[in-house]
Amino acid sequence: MKKRLFLIIMLISIASSALSCILTTLIYYNFYVTDAKNHLRTIVELEAVPENWENESTIKSSVNKIINAADYSMRFTIIDSSGNVIYDNWAHDEALENHLSRPEVSQALKNGSGEYTRYSDTMASDMYYYAVKINDNNVLRVSREINSINSVFIRITPMLVSLFAGLLIIVYIAANSFTKKILKPVNEMTRTLDEMLEGNESFDFKIYDELKPLSHKILEQKTKISQYINELKYERDTIGIITEDMKEGFILINSEKQILSINTSGRRMIGNNKFDLKHNKNILELTRNAEILKRIDTAISENKHLVYDMDTKSSHFRYYFSPVRQQNQSSVAGLLILIEDVTIQKNAEIMRSEFSANVSHELKTPLTTMIGFAEMIKEGLITDIDSIRKYCGMINKEGLRLISLIEDIMRLSKIEEKTVPEDSSINLKEASCDVISLLQTKADSLNIKLNLQAEDVFMKANKNYISELFYNLVDNSVKYNKNGGSVDIKIKKDENYIYIVIKDTGVGISEEHQSRIFERFYRVDKSRSKETGGTGLGLSIVKHIVELYDGTIELKSKEYKGTEITIKFPLIK
Ligand code: ADP
Repeated sequence: MKKRLFLIIMLISIASSALSCILTTLIYYNFYVTDAKNHLRTIVELEAVPENWENESTIKSSVNKIINAADYSMRFTIIDSSGNVIYDNWAHDEALENHLSRPEVSQALKNGSGEYTRYSDTMASDMYYYAVKINDNNVLRVSREINSINSVFIRITPMLVSLFAGLLIIVYIAANSFTKKILKPVNEMTRTLDEMLEGNESFDFKIYDELKPLSHKILEQKTKISQYINELKYERDTIGIITEDMKEGFILINSEKQILSINTSGRRMIGNNKFDLKHNKNILELTRNAEILKRIDTAISENKHLVYDMDTKSSHFRYYFSPVRQQNQSSVAGLLILIEDVTIQKNAEIMRSEFSANVSHELKTPLTTMIGFAEMIKEGLITDIDSIRKYCGMINKEGLRLISLIEDIMRLSKIEEKTVPEDSSINLKEASCDVISLLQTKADSLNIKLNLQAEDVFMKANKNYISELFYNLVDNSVKYNKNGGSVDIKIKKDENYIYIVIKDTGVGISEEHQSRIFERFYRVDKSRSKETGGTGLGLSIVKHIVELYDGTIELKSKEYKGTEITIKFPLIK
């Protein structure tokens, strides 16, 4: 703008200077011509008395007197009424043609005076003629050279050029400072536009009144734009918040495979927690997993929805690739990748199939034994009454084990359903006392002491589940104890938790088994477990009950020394 303004000012100044030079010259020339004519006319009028032009000697003296007085050359001609030239101071003996046809002469003969201007080839300039009738027969005509406008121009050109150059320098300096001055408020306004738009009007420069509507318009536009930006931000943030809080991974890419959006779960599940969308945009920056990249390519190029299950060491993720179509078009604009953590479902599936296999196996073993014994009796292989009684007793024992196994399985699946029948406030001390009295005979037969150290601790839970929990733990401590051993049961609470500690002096559990004893059907010593009527589901049931009430289990055990199991329930106030 500054350059343009400067150029415009320069052009206008140059044009006006040139125009004024031309006009001045023309006016000057006009003055000059009028002045020259007037001067000649005055001389002629003053000197046109008959006595001055009577004879040759008076004519010559008059001519000389006038020529000497003037600073330019003049031609004097005396013409008679027939047009013959009687005298001419510029003619040198040659006969001059008849002058009657000359406009100034004919006018003078007719009206007393006449004038005319014409170009003279001889002089190569304009000649002004003025003729006056000096008596009845003669006309005095005087002429002088009048410079043509071109010659006037040529003469004053050097002066004009230097004047023009001077003007140019002045105009240049003036235009420069003028431009700066004009633009200063505009520049200042641009510099402080932000402050101005904030409504701050304390400036050390003056804003043009004409610019005020502009600044108001800008302010209006700024408000509109910031409103629009805020709306967009709100929308983006809303989408961001929604996707950010999703536990599923969310990745949105365009058809060029540039990542447009990704949430924290997406980063974590794809295994690149440090991925920063600000700097890394291509999908390759996020993952190099060939299986994922292959499916991204297929989904985009073939416009196809794909599902892919990926298993990592500890997790199972399900990827859903959904192409995003352009509005009203069939071409793919991008791809939405949703990642679902299906670890729990997958593990449950695995557990279910393992459980079915285990159940079948566990049920099959006692049944096979029972069928074997029954067949032996049926075939008459066992005949004496004592043996028959012994084998029937074994069939009965296996049958009871089968029933307790089925009962445990049913209990476990009920607890797994997580539908607690009804909770009530239970005194854990009382519940443990009931269990102790149930197991006292068993403990006594094995010479094991059961010690209870309990406060009255109340917990909101299902009574059967809590009894089940105590029974399984104390029963194990009795079953896997040594003759003459002991079981210590402690129940206490602090501000936040309820603690149930069951400690025995039994066979203990070696470290390699400790992490697995809570699995279904897992038994360290299978024969001992079976001998004692164990199903391998006791601790599994305990674990599920503890989880049901948001508790935790801690196991401390040393082989041949004993086992300590601590259960911690959060105290609900
Ligand atoms: P079971 O019906 O076989 O007792 P559990 O699930 O109750 O099944 O226990 C699983 C296994 O853990 C048992 O077979 C046993 O080997 C071991 N176990 C459980 N409690 C104790 C304990 N107090 N001392 C030693 N081993 C134990």
